[in-house]
Parts: sequence; C-alpha cells; structure tokens
Amino acid sequence: MTDTATLEIQPGQLFIGGEWQDAASGETFDTINPATAEPLTHVAAAAADDVDRAVKAARTAFEADSWQKLDARKRGKLLYAIADKLEERADELARLETMDNGKPVREARMIDIKESIDCFRYYAGWADKISGDVIPVPGPYLNYTRREPVGVCGAIIPWNYPLQMAAWKVAPAIACGNTVVLKPAEQTPLTALELARAAAEAGLPAGVLNVLTGFGEPAGASLVNHPDVDKIAFTGSTAVGKIIQKQAADTLKKVSLELGGKSPNIVLDDADIDAAVKGASMAIFYNTGQACTAGSRLLVHEKIRDEFVEKLLKRASGFVPGDPLDPKTRLGPLVSAEQLDRVMGYIAQGKSEGAELLLGGDRVEVNGKAGYFLNPTIFGDVESKMVIACEEIFGPVLAVQTFSDLEEAIQIGNNTEYGLAAAVWTRDVRKAHHAAHQLRAGTVWINTYHNLDTASPFGGYKQSGYGRELGRYALDLYTQVKSVWVNLG
Ligand code: ADP
Repeated sequence: MTDTATLEIQPGQLFIGGEWQDAASGETFDTINPATAEPLTHVAAAAADDVDRAVKAARTAFEADSWQKLDARKRGKLLYAIADKLEERADELARLETMDNGKPVREARMIDIKESIDCFRYYAGWADKISGDVIPVPGPYLNYTRREPVGVCGAIIPWNYPLQMAAWKVAPAIACGNTVVLKPAEQTPLTALELARAAAEAGLPAGVLNVLTGFGEPAGASLVNHPDVDKIAFTGSTAVGKIIQKQAADTLKKVSLELGGKSPNIVLDDADIDAAVKGASMAIFYNTGQACTAGSRLLVHEKIRDEFVEKLLKRASGFVPGDPLDPKTRLGPLVSAEQLDRVMGYIAQGKSEGAELLLGGDRVEVNGKAGYFLNPTIFGDVESKMVIACEEIFGPVLAVQTFSDLEEAIQIGNNTEYGLAAAVWTRDVRKAHHAAHQLRAGTVWINTYHNLDTASPFGGYKQSGYGRELGRYALDLYTQVKSVWVNLG
C-alpha cells in the first residue's frame, strides 16, 4: 500500500556556510514517524555554539561583495532555480514530509510542496521590483528612499507545514537580499534539510541560507538571543511567541510573529447548508486540525442547528484516519505523542465541563502500529466560557455553538484573545461584508475556508501575532527603509 521502502532517509547534519556539519557537541536526536511511532532517522542537535557558527556564516555571506553587489535580478534567478530543484523532487519531498509530519501524502504534494515551490517563484519575481520612492520635500533637495535588507534573519518555524513555513520566510528574506538562519521544528526537521540541499544545488552562495536542526531550547532561544541576528521571523504557539518577543527585547531585534488561533466559522440561517457543511468539516479536519487557522469554533444559527449538525456528523464520519502514505487517506495522525496527549486532555476537559460529545474522541490503530491517530471529534452544546471554546487545541476537535442573530455571532466570534482567521457563510452579500468588516481577524473567508495564496497577505490580529507574511506585504518584514538627502542648492 505504501512506498516507504523506496525512500531512503539519511541522517541529517547541520547546514552552515554551505557545508554539512555535525553539531559541535556531536549530539543528535531522532525524528519520529507519527504514523508508526517509530524513528525515521536522526539529525544533529544544534546548540549555542552551532548557532554562533551559523550566524557568523550568515553575517559573512551578507557582507560579501558577491551578495551585496549581486544584481537583484540574479537573486531572483537563484530563487527560480531553488524552485526548480524542489520541483524536480516534488514527489519525494511530499513523501518525506508525510513520513516526518504524518499529513496525507496527497495534501503534502498538492498543498505543502506545490505551495512551497510557488512561494519561491513568486518572490523570485519580486527580487528586482523592490524599489524606494522619491519624496517631494521642500527646498533645493532631492530626497529618496531605499529599501535595504534587514541583515541576518533568524527564521523559527513550526511542525504543521514544515517546508511551506520555511518557504514563507526564506523566499522573501532572500528576495530582499538578506541572509538566513533557519531552525525547523524538532518534530519535523527533514524537509528543511532538503531545502538546504536544493539551495546549494541551485548555486545559492554559501552562508546565505543556513539550516540548524535542534530544539526550541537551546537552538531557537540562542538564535533569538544572538546579538548579531537582526530579525526573528517566528511561526508557532502564542506562548513561545511571547517568550521570543521578551527575549528579543534585549538586543532590540525586529520580530514578526505568526501565532495561534481559535477561529470562528459562522453559518447564518440563509447559508447554502451543504456547502457550509463541507466547508466546516474541511475547516477543522484538514491537516488533522493542526492548522493555526483551523475553524475550531463552529457557530451555527439556532434555526438550522439540528439539520446542520446531522449533516456535519455524516460528513465528518467520512474522515477516517488512515495511512498517510496512502493517496486515498484524508486524515493522518497527529504529529507527536505529546500533541496527542494534549488533544486527549482537551477532549477529557470538554466532557468534564459538560459539552456533549457528538462524534469521536477516541484513538484508533492504523496498520497495527502505535501511531498517533485520533478520530474526528465534535462537541455540541459548547458554551463560550468552556476551555474547549477558548484554547487552541490544534487537533481534529470541533466545538459547536449556536447564536440567534448576526450581531451575537460576531460578538461570540470576537470573544477570543486570538484573531488569525474567521469565516461566514451566508447568501446575503450585505451580511457577509458586514461580518467580514466586524470580525477582528487577519483573514476572513466568505462562503469558503482555508484559502491561501502566496500573493495574499497572511497574519494575525490580537494575540495571533503581528506582521504580514506573503504577498508584497512580506517585503516590509525583510527590508528597512533608508531616507537619503541630496543638496541640490
Ligand atoms: P508547538 O507548541 O506547536 O510545538 P512551539 O511554539 O513550541 O509550537 O514551537 C514552534 C517553534 O519554536 C519550534 O521550532 C520550536 O523549536 C521553537 N521554540 C520553542 N521554544 C522556543 C524558545 N524558547 N525560543 C525559541 N524558539 C523556540
């Protein structure tokens, strides 16, 4: 059924200054296949001295004439070449991502890998279009601005979309002329190493991209604390985002944070119910609910609640956990034993707080292995104050609430410390836009869910973070503006 055997997974080293190296300590750690709970391979465990070597390599590369004076168009060509290298190996990368993360291989190929390639091509196109302005100042002066790179950028990314999160940071950073030290999540280090390989094969100068596998502490924290890192771009939990912002204050690094969410998915009584049912199940079960934009709070108008929930349960039952390497599988395992425990803890809490368990809530065995599989889970009768309605679960667990009018739905929707995404389903164009404007979230979907495109900005309101990735907006994260005055008098 699966083709695991065709992919030989090598142990991983750190990629520093264009060379593969062991960690200075010689330490390594295993990366686990969540579908089997067995190790795939081991990779180097970076610590503070490795971070220091990587930052030095990135600084040297940043200051080198060969990078500073490289035509912007040639930077773009390097990014196109990285995209080509990734594309040549897209199927293999998809299987690797699936084995490391557990996501269904079909989604890994059609979304993660495809969108990563697209991201490199998109920012390749931007490299020679990053320009300043001429400002009409008074007096005999010419005043113009330059958009200069920030310098050495530290990118710390999570495990839910490993290669894609790397692409979202590395591609715009390089397009803008920065150099990067990338630290993938300890759960999913393998495709970041393949990105390093692709970059080397594409001819990216040594030190422009460095990849350090390792844990949040010490590898991530050392990167945040390092005095010669100019910027940290982080995607991950709100808790760690807060730590990073505090730690970065000591060296006044620029920080951009893309954090958690508890996104409301609002279905009005005039909605196309079948479309909304389909959207609601995809909103929560896609990537096993391990998406920061997961539609984890379903707010349904009380008039249509029973019909809606009946249809939703039927559809959700179709998400049968299975071997993620099987192209037919739509629901893979959770990423780790730790994550499974966390999610099971939330399910127990939902039950004890009095929410009604309508579906799932239990683990499943797939292929006779101890993988981290969980059935799609839906709670009804959820109240706003319950923990399962407030905290980000990051698993296939949906909390269903009801409301009686649009204003109440918006109020419940906004009643969260997060503000990453929201959705509204209605046939009334005025209600749709009213909701879109009132919902305090960085992305609002109308009659759809989970759309993303490299060209469209992505980021959070409130405690979902700040800064906008993707699109031309990401160029603001990776450039700083210089104002130049010339006396013409
Ligand atoms: P999750 O809870 O989803 O695993 P985290 O926010 O813990 O997400 O992790 C996201 C990324 O942040 C990972 O690469 C992780 O290693 C890193 N990380 C965790 N703790 C720290 C820290 N104190 N400083 C810097 N990076 C960290």
